Amino acid sequence: MPRVVLILCLLPAVLGSLPATAQSWRDQRASGPVVCRADFSLDGYEGLFGDLASVQNDLVRALAIPPAEEPVELYLFHDKRSFTAYMQKRYPNVPMRRALFVKGAGPGRVFVYRHDELPVDVRHEGTHALLHASLPMVPLWLDEGLAEYFEVPPEERAYGHPHLAALRWDLRLGNAPKIVHLEAKRDLADMSTTDYRHAWAWVHFMMHGPVEAREELVQFLGAIRMNTPPGKLSDHLKRRLPGIEARLAQHFKAWKR
Ligand SMILES: [Zn+2]
Repeated sequence: MPRVVLILCLLPAVLGSLPATAQSWRDQRASGPVVCRADFSLDGYEGLFGDLASVQNDLVRALAIPPAEEPVELYLFHDKRSFTAYMQKRYPNVPMRRALFVKGAGPGRVFVYRHDELPVDVRHEGTHALLHASLPMVPLWLDEGLAEYFEVPPEERAYGHPHLAALRWDLRLGNAPKIVHLEAKRDLADMSTTDYRHAWAWVHFMMHGPVEAREELVQFLGAIRMNTPPGKLSDHLKRRLPGIEARLAQHFKAWKR
């Protein structure tokens, strides 16, 4: 079943660095670049840190993005009410969502509350945080596509993502993902549920489709990292792989375990 909700999340660097430590936190742990503070005991939640370490490893291994160069702060709340109260006090002008990644002048901060899909939210927002801890910017659609890709557990990323079935219906119904359409998005509010799914589809294609597509993505991210204007990823892909949209459709048609 395709997941109904989603989340999300990204607030570019318009916010100042707010002190986040005035609240008394019940528990605090550090793991790699991630410093986690929670208003409940983190005993039993150690898997969240392993999840983030795994996302970090995959960003390095698959996309040649170096490990985070600055810390990432993860704030966990025991319920929606405590999350909302904190966010309204600290970030009163931020539209409320189920989970948030906030990047201001200081370290990236992820805010998530405890519920059934807490690990999904932590992996999704944590992906944004790890990307922005290594790269000066990431195009909006690609940022979301990567976060959608990494939000599921590693063993589900290739074949088990809830987007896969819905994406196949998109292709059957003539609603194929258009990368140029996604590249035109400038504001998170412009990203529909379908846009998230289609951004995921392009990332899946680049991760598991023709090797040239992954190479173009790696080069594109490398250019961003070097502060070189990267151009449009779609232009690079089209030059390297003519008929890119038909290739994406073919990729998903043939994609089986
Ligand atoms: Zn997101």
